[in-house]
Amino acid sequence: MDELHKTLWTYYGYSSFRPGQERLIRALLEGNDVLGVMPTGAGKSLCYQIPALLLPGLTIVVSPLISLMEDQVGTLRKRGIPAAFLHAAMRSSERRALCQKILDGQRTGSPSTVRLLYVSPERLMAREFLSFSENADISLLAVDEAHCISNWGRDFRPAYRKIGDFADRMKHRPPIGAFTASATPAVREEIISYLHLKDPASLTTGFDRPNLYFEVRHAEDKWTELLRVLDEHRTGTGIIYCLTRKTTEALAKKLNKNGIPAAFYHGGLTSCEREKSQEDWIRGRVRLIVATCAFGMGIDKPDVRFVIHYNLPGSMENYYQEAGRASRDGRPGECILLYNIRDVTINRFFIRRAGSGNKGESLQEMLRQDLLVMQDYVSCHTCLRAFMLRYFGEETEPFCGKCSVCLSDTGPLPRGSTLIPGVESPELYRELRALRLDLANRQGKLPFEIFSDRTLHDLAAVRPENLKDMLLIEGAGILNVLKFGPVFLKEIRYWNHTH
Ligand code: ADP
Ligand code: MG
Repeated sequence: MDELHKTLWTYYGYSSFRPGQERLIRALLEGNDVLGVMPTGAGKSLCYQIPALLLPGLTIVVSPLISLMEDQVGTLRKRGIPAAFLHAAMRSSERRALCQKILDGQRTGSPSTVRLLYVSPERLMAREFLSFSENADISLLAVDEAHCISNWGRDFRPAYRKIGDFADRMKHRPPIGAFTASATPAVREEIISYLHLKDPASLTTGFDRPNLYFEVRHAEDKWTELLRVLDEHRTGTGIIYCLTRKTTEALAKKLNKNGIPAAFYHGGLTSCEREKSQEDWIRGRVRLIVATCAFGMGIDKPDVRFVIHYNLPGSMENYYQEAGRASRDGRPGECILLYNIRDVTINRFFIRRAGSGNKGESLQEMLRQDLLVMQDYVSCHTCLRAFMLRYFGEETEPFCGKCSVCLSDTGPLPRGSTLIPGVESPELYRELRALRLDLANRQGKLPFEIFSDRTLHDLAAVRPENLKDMLLIEGAGILNVLKFGPVFLKEIRYWNHTH
């Protein structure tokens, strides 16, 4: 047995690595930067925890939530790994004592010296922490939930953008490992650039979760539909996601009144109340938890059999992350989204409210695009899984056979086959290429991130007159069609009229 497997077995009791883990671990041990993009539940923590055990010095883990840090440190300690956390909710005397203990431990080479120190991003640049990091022997900097660096999603944390500077200030800049489940190429680029990753070994494992069944149900009466869904799931643990705190409480109450025990969870509860709900559900004392999106990040419960969305989430990132909490153990699980038009109204309300700050307008615009994607998802007649994976930049089969569209009587609308192939116009192709370059420059993107060459060739041959036809072109991702399609259509329409 090599050292990696021995460590995996001794501390975790696992006999083999999951796809990708070993490669990233080795890269970090060799001193390289790493970018690990893997879906929730894939096992990202291990990728920096095992190097932390094998490298001589301390590993600093930047983590966005106190609950997440406490969770992880608790689990590590149970495994006999010395770990600690440092965040703003601790007294400064506590923080100082901890730092001193680590330095002393390093000096004497004590075996109980903390190997992993979880830190909130805001703490990094605090003077006390900077002076600690100057004196400590630090072997690795791990950045968990690294997408928090991007203001593209709801998890944006400005302090994440300082992590790169923090690392550069160190005498010996340690290798950096960044990990996230957020798959969009733009976010990946931002992570690399803000963290100043040097030629990172990067790994993006497939985002498909083949054991999950996806369904969209149009439901005028959500409550009745929910009862129907629950009736189909009389056993097994489930999460019911709602958009607002009020809904979670009201729904849980109504369920309980109807003899269906359910806990509720949202960010407005005291940490004591949150903990109780979460514990009751994790320990199986209650089968259902009704929650807002505040629930779930970092929660390790592999046997969630179904995730119901009582409302339409605001973005595909959020939806996939939340739905992805079903069946992490690989057994079959179901993700059911209940939808009606009022969901759009609620989301629009959130978007308007989000627009009050300075950068309000561009944020609102971004959120509107996110919502459009979700509106498209619920009304889509093509394979739901393919829709999602394409959104995340993955090429897939157009038919999964395991979603409500593929399993419906009519089946999915074929993509790419209903268009009459025309003869490509090289002239139009050149026009479209120029347009793409122009857009790319203005958006700070690479041309292929807008449309591939292949898609441009197809556009120049098919010359679609509307967005719907444009979507039928292979490789034209839904998001990019929504975003950039109209400009290209204008060009194509003009061309059609003048030729
Ligand atoms: P992520 O951060 O990618 O969402 P975690 O690191 O929380 O995922 O891991 C999810 C679960 O998978 C944990 O219970 C973890 O112990 C388990 N796990 C990770 N790697 C392995 C492995 N090689 N073999 C078996 N289980 C693993
Ligand atoms: Mg994680």
